[in-house]
Amino acid sequence: MSRVAVVGAGTMGNGIAHVFAQHGWDTTLIDVAPGLLERVLALIRTNFERQVKKGTVTAEQRDAALARIRTSTSLDAVADAELVVEAATEQSDVKFKIFRDLDRLAPPAAILASNTSSISITTIAAQTKRPPQVVGMHFMNPVPVMSLVEVIRGLETGEETVGKVVEVVKVLNKTPVVVNDAPGFVSNRVLMPMINEAVLCVMEGVATPEAVDTVMTLGMNHPLGPLALADLIGLDVCLAILEVLQRDLGDDKYRAAPLLRTMVAAGRLGRKSGRGFYVYRD
Ligand code: NAD
Repeated sequence: MSRVAVVGAGTMGNGIAHVFAQHGWDTTLIDVAPGLLERVLALIRTNFERQVKKGTVTAEQRDAALARIRTSTSLDAVADAELVVEAATEQSDVKFKIFRDLDRLAPPAAILASNTSSISITTIAAQTKRPPQVVGMHFMNPVPVMSLVEVIRGLETGEETVGKVVEVVKVLNKTPVVVNDAPGFVSNRVLMPMINEAVLCVMEGVATPEAVDTVMTLGMNHPLGPLALADLIGLDVCLAILEVLQRDLGDDKYRAAPLLRTMVAAGRLGRKSGRGFYVYRD
């Protein structure tokens, strides 16, 4: 396989397109938001510059990778893709519609992967006529830096598909871990309750965000505290995942902290909006 289409060019989609292009794939990046794609291409260029400065990518490799990325505002551009990675907004109705459209527009042999953080891969696959070719490919943020990809096997996902996607992850120089479909998979089932508990500590006045994060970085050796990580992920994304965990596991221990809900309602979404638990000036 050498042709990928990435649907959604937000926080994750631009990083996913970046790593595929870096590893030689013809990459089509698709988003419906007007004007976004030009900004995203500039951002990918900046991120490649950083790698060139660090010496992990040469200037020639950067230019070749950028030349492999084309953009589109229409899903029709998946027509020649062998693999589609969907990284659109974390809402079931949005993803279900995209997968129904992808099933119609992508070549019959194409694998359809979702980067969802929490929505059931089995349910996404059921929107299509090709559930054996639907799989989860859960990249971590920031994609060019993080080496894990959780590969999620839905109830109907074929072993051939799982095997192919595991090989793709290795080609991207990342480490695949295969897990079965369950709410939040492993990563968010374990991470989100920790983030939620950190928000509750702030809400109840136990400690400031700085204090909570310092306890976890210095005390537990986490590279980033849970609240700084929540800001990086996006507080709206964290809230959406907690709601899925609570609903689909039927357990109120996953109930989102009211403070998280309030911050999302106020538009304090973390880094992407300039303010979350911390303020981001650039
Ligand atoms: P985001 O809000 O930054 O970007 C989503 C993008 O999808 C937007 O640019 C939006 O315009 C686009 N979009 C919406 N509907 C579309 C459609 N019909 N066709 C094409 N594009 C469409 O979100 P994100 O943080 O990049 O998350 C994307 C996915 O990745 C979600 O499923 C999320 O759960 C998952 N994820 C996020 C993180 C994270 O740290 N942010 C980590 C792992 C996985």
